[in-house]
Amino acid sequence: MSQTIPLVLYNTESRTKIAVKPSSGDTILLYTCGPTVYNFAHIGNFRTYVFEDLLRRSIKYFGMKVRQVMNLTDIDDKTIKGALAKGSSLAQYTQPYIEAFFEDLQTLGIERAEHYPAATDYIADMIRIIERLLEKSMAYVGEDGSVYFKISAFPKYGRLSHLQLSELKTGASNRIGDEYDKEEAADFVLWKAYSPERDGMIFWESPFGKGRPGWHIECSAMAMKILGESIDIHVGGVDNMFPHHENEIAQSEAFSGKTFVCHWLHAEHLLVDHKKMSKSLGNFYTLRDLLQKGYTGQQVRYVLLQTHYRTQVNFSFAGLDAAAASLRRIVDCVERLQSIKQEGSYEEILLVTKKMEEGFKESLADDLNISAALSYLFEAIREINSLSDAEKVGKQEAEAALEVIYRLDRVLGILSLQEEEKIPVHLEEALARRQKAREEKNWAVADECRVFIASQGYKIEDSPEGARLKKQKVQ
Ligand SMILES: [Zn+2]
Repeated sequence: MSQTIPLVLYNTESRTKIAVKPSSGDTILLYTCGPTVYNFAHIGNFRTYVFEDLLRRSIKYFGMKVRQVMNLTDIDDKTIKGALAKGSSLAQYTQPYIEAFFEDLQTLGIERAEHYPAATDYIADMIRIIERLLEKSMAYVGEDGSVYFKISAFPKYGRLSHLQLSELKTGASNRIGDEYDKEEAADFVLWKAYSPERDGMIFWESPFGKGRPGWHIECSAMAMKILGESIDIHVGGVDNMFPHHENEIAQSEAFSGKTFVCHWLHAEHLLVDHKKMSKSLGNFYTLRDLLQKGYTGQQVRYVLLQTHYRTQVNFSFAGLDAAAASLRRIVDCVERLQSIKQEGSYEEILLVTKKMEEGFKESLADDLNISAALSYLFEAIREINSLSDAEKVGKQEAEAALEVIYRLDRVLGILSLQEEEKIPVHLEEALARRQKAREEKNWAVADECRVFIASQGYKIEDSPEGARLKKQKVQ
């Protein structure tokens, strides 16, 4: 296999696939737009975060290092509204959601980024950028005292989303209908002047008066402060492309005079039963909702991971069950290889795993084509199973094959999530009692054990390798 195969990714800005490489040194500088911590993140958010985790792991798989920033948006209309409604400080209000977010990341096996900056810790940096933009006449103070970015002073505006300024003007005025104090409808706010009715006691002092930063400036400030003025890859959901990412480019480049981002990646939407997820349609799910129904983080990770990031994911419970079954096939194959004890030299399985790894790597290299990568894995599993059935796998080759699978799992991150399926000890004991009773043909006791296990929400799966327990889904 060629070790020099490059990782090529689609760049939203150029609309072409480009090889990824660090602009300096050996580390990819990666910025990923993070959650607004006013509520629990939903599975649509996690579609993007799981994809970003796949990207992060793939960069490492292709031999590069990565330094990732994911911001926590703790200042915006929603967090302020929530804090005021509860009569708590912004920090008190957002803290439980920040903790929940990290818990969810862990449940889904998402690797930790190197930095999780909160917007509230970077206000001074935001003010510094805004001051510079005012000095350069790229920004102005509107009649309401807010500071706005002057889009007409940045001719490259629109180059990411490929929209014309004339289209943006109508688009933006529809979006932000309440901001009448701007010179142009498409101009966006950098600093929002304080309003006692809207902001309560939540404000910061600045050279432009009391107020708070706009959402877009938060990402620019944190990205440039931590990673530098030019970063390698910036990722977000496709709904962030316009206006959020477009505005990030404008204010960052107007400030620094440098190219802000080399490579833009956008993850497509998640739909539920082919519809947009919304609370009013009753098809809105957080990760916690799915866990409550009996699904595991591993299963949810797999269902979100298996579709190519530039394709919409259509989430359904039937799809989640199918994903769980696919996952089971991978785990079964691994357990089977682990259980092989026979000695002997059988080369064939090594050819199978070599072909699998080559195909897997080539597919990932082509814009993270995960569905193709997984098809190589399943093809190999089929072949490994038939070789095992024919007793054509020795202990040594099984271990070598497992090593390859574990290497691929450094990208997939699913087998490492196994432990959360741990079965309670008293149920394992009941299963052992049932096994013993069956051997003794004591069917009454065996049946008692089965009924007891079922009453605890588990079912017994019998297989040639023995019986095991599986948590029943609550529908
Ligand atoms: Zn952002």
